[in-house]
Parts: sequence; C-alpha cells; structure tokens
Amino acid sequence: MTCREAERLVTPYIQDKLSGDELEAFLEHLEHCRNCQEELEIYFMVDVGLKQLDTGSGTFDIMGALQKRIAESYARVRRMWRFRKMEYAVNTLGVMAVLVTVMLQVRIWLAP
Ligand SMILES: [Zn+2]
Repeated sequence: MTCREAERLVTPYIQDKLSGDELEAFLEHLEHCRNCQEELEIYFMVDVGLKQLDTGSGTFDIMGALQKRIAESYARVRRMWRFRKMEYAVNTLGVMAVLVTVMLQVRIWLAP
C-alpha cells in the first residue's frame, strides 16, 4: 500500500468503516510509515476534538484513545484470520468426509 492509498483510508478508519482486509493493509502500512501515523494522529485528534465540543466532556486522553483504537484494530484483524482458518478447516473436513463416503460406497459396490 502506498502513502496515497493509506491517506485515503484514514477517515474511513476513524469512522470504523474499513473492511477486514483494508484494515490489515492499513495497519501494516502504519507500522513502517511514520508520516501516515502522524496523519492518522492529526485526523483522530480533530475527530475526537470535534466530538468533545459536542458533548462538552472535559479533558480526554486522545493519544491513549488512539492507541486503544489501534490495539482493537489488531484484535479485529486477528479475529478475521482465526475465522478464515476455521472456515478453511471446516471446508477441508467437509470435502474429506465426502471423499471418504464415496470411497466407502465404491468399496461396497466393488466388494464381491
Ligand atoms: Zn505512508
């Protein structure tokens, strides 16, 4: 992912609108791109700042909130992969079960 693509995902990220795959690519880019990290920090601060004006809640740990958000995003990507692996395993088992059934049936047909 290029910085241009990452920058386009900053706002949807803050609004929690990224798909699992987009989220994974975005986090991966952030890991080694300080520029985009800063971009995200600025947008996040503005977003949280504006919401605070609405609610009027006093001081707020913005960087802490951003770190928490990023940690949640990693957890979401991990859950996505766990689910995909499980799905793959279930599909594989399903195919194997069909194969075994067919083989057993063929053996019955061929048995003298
Ligand atoms: Zn970047």
